[in-house]
Amino acid sequence: ETLDKGLEKTKTSFFSKLGKAVAGKSKVDDDVLDNLEEVLVSSDVGVDTTLKIIERIEARVARDKYVGTDELNTILRAEIAGLLSETNDKDVSEIQIPKDKKPYVIMVVGVNGVGKTTTIGKLAHRFKSQGLKVVLGAADTFRAAAIDQLQVWADRVDVPIVKQQMGSDPASVAFDTLSSAVTQDADVVIIDTAGRLHNKVNLMNELTKVKRVMQKVVEDTPHEVLLVLDGSTGQNAFEQAKQFTKATEVTALAITKLDGTAKGGVVIGISDQFKIPVKYIGVGEGIEDLQVFNKHEFVDSFFK
Ligand code: GDP
Repeated sequence: ETLDKGLEKTKTSFFSKLGKAVAGKSKVDDDVLDNLEEVLVSSDVGVDTTLKIIERIEARVARDKYVGTDELNTILRAEIAGLLSETNDKDVSEIQIPKDKKPYVIMVVGVNGVGKTTTIGKLAHRFKSQGLKVVLGAADTFRAAAIDQLQVWADRVDVPIVKQQMGSDPASVAFDTLSSAVTQDADVVIIDTAGRLHNKVNLMNELTKVKRVMQKVVEDTPHEVLLVLDGSTGQNAFEQAKQFTKATEVTALAITKLDGTAKGGVVIGISDQFKIPVKYIGVGEGIEDLQVFNKHEFVDSFFK
């Protein structure tokens, strides 16, 4: 139900455009396909993914000779479900915390303002509710507000946080956090990192250094790199995904702020284009407003 609400604007806008795209047409022809292409692109599905979907429908039309516009919903639904399945092999995507990797280290990346801190807070709450012991690390030392905000979430969720002063070395905070987590026998560590995208080389160097220092405490860390993207920014989210995937190995995506936007098509395009599973979606500001991504529910909700 929360998902339905979160996708409402995207859906309303999409189906209203789709309705106009097929108005007065009973058969899927080149005109309809052109219109459909526009609908998908303007819904932030992304150009590459849109073309892929259009090509597949074209192939179907060529094969079946006649495809009615009344079938378009069903066809689109199948195509989108298929695309999501290519990237999300599991029905329900969620970061799984294995028992034999303790602490399990999740490094969270993303530019400022996308909802990184909020997502970390919601995730900490989620893991804690599962009975796991969580430690947060405030390695976004560039802004005082980032450290303060993470502290607010640590208090709200009631989990320990490791922090230093603003301006201190992010790698040093990460090191301290992992050391503390080992001492406390924690299950999960979530590390917040600075979201500056000033230039690719700096970003890469910074993330690489944080990783290298963390590996001095726990080998093969981080186990996950979660990239947080603001779903309401459409094409910017694609651009950020491009930058971050070049700078580091991203293993999971969280797409926030799907409530209140008509640009929810990014979920489909980004997961397809970057072949990284969307594991969480943010549908509000509250502590419970982080949903585990379920590809079937997503498609159901979208085409309901
Ligand atoms: P950060 O700079 O990336 O750490 O961003 P914050 O976590 O501080 O979030 C920025 C703003 O976005 C805050 O006002 C959050 O409450 C809001 N926010 C985060 N996630 C969501 C979401 O899923 N939905 C909505 N509506 N707001 C969100």
